[in-house]
Amino acid sequence: MAKARRILLKISGEGFAREGETGLDTERVKALAAQLRKLTEEKVQVACVIGGGNILRGKQSESLGINRATGDYMGMLATVINGLALSDALESNGVPTRVMSAIDVHKVCEPFIRRRALRHLDKGRVVVLVGGLGSPYFTTDTAAAQRAIELDCSTLLKATMVDGVYDKDPNVFEDAVHLPEITFQEVLEQRLRVMDQTAFTLCREHNLPIVVFDMNAPDGLLAAARGQKIGTVIQN
Ligand code: UDP
Repeated sequence: MAKARRILLKISGEGFAREGETGLDTERVKALAAQLRKLTEEKVQVACVIGGGNILRGKQSESLGINRATGDYMGMLATVINGLALSDALESNGVPTRVMSAIDVHKVCEPFIRRRALRHLDKGRVVVLVGGLGSPYFTTDTAAAQRAIELDCSTLLKATMVDGVYDKDPNVFEDAVHLPEITFQEVLEQRLRVMDQTAFTLCREHNLPIVVFDMNAPDGLLAAARGQKIGTVIQN
């Protein structure tokens, strides 16, 4: 794959917490910011969609006796907290940012407006996208796919805790095989789990390549954006 000019990076909530824990870990956030800084030094335009699973996921809310839609809004607000933390760490590293939200929290960040987001990207600011799509019953994976297409990003980089896609769960099966490249069709045929169905379908229909890579790999983000062999590339 060629080096990307503009990427969409999806960072799950787990990327903001200490491994296996919930909440916010400032060391993790600083490490993320340091990787992102290197990327901006290479003049790659970066939009990040931020998850919130380290704080709350809507699905959990029902077991807590909270209405699902309310839980989803709580999850969206969790992404705002993570996004503000990342923006703060980036700005401390000298990287200009703008946080843009799909839900209205105008005292803390800008509303998401496509043309404004494009302008920020052109000016070299890292655009931190929070609030998902602003509607319950969606995930931030779907927001990542939708925003990547809307903002004309060449690749969706999905930062995860594993180094790509396997033919079966590597945590369960010792003989699981890592797949460095795979097509959308093969993912469907082999029923592999990459992203939720809505997100996956959007990427497939709009021919948007996905790179799944380990966010803890040294310079993994750089390698993924440079189009070097890392993780798993999914494309048509
Ligand atoms: N969410 C939502 N609509 C969106 C995006 C997110 O309702 O467009 C809610 C949903 O409850 C989700 C939570 O926000 O569980 C946090 O997002 P997600 O689970 O995608 O975070 P991640 O798994 O990436 O940490």
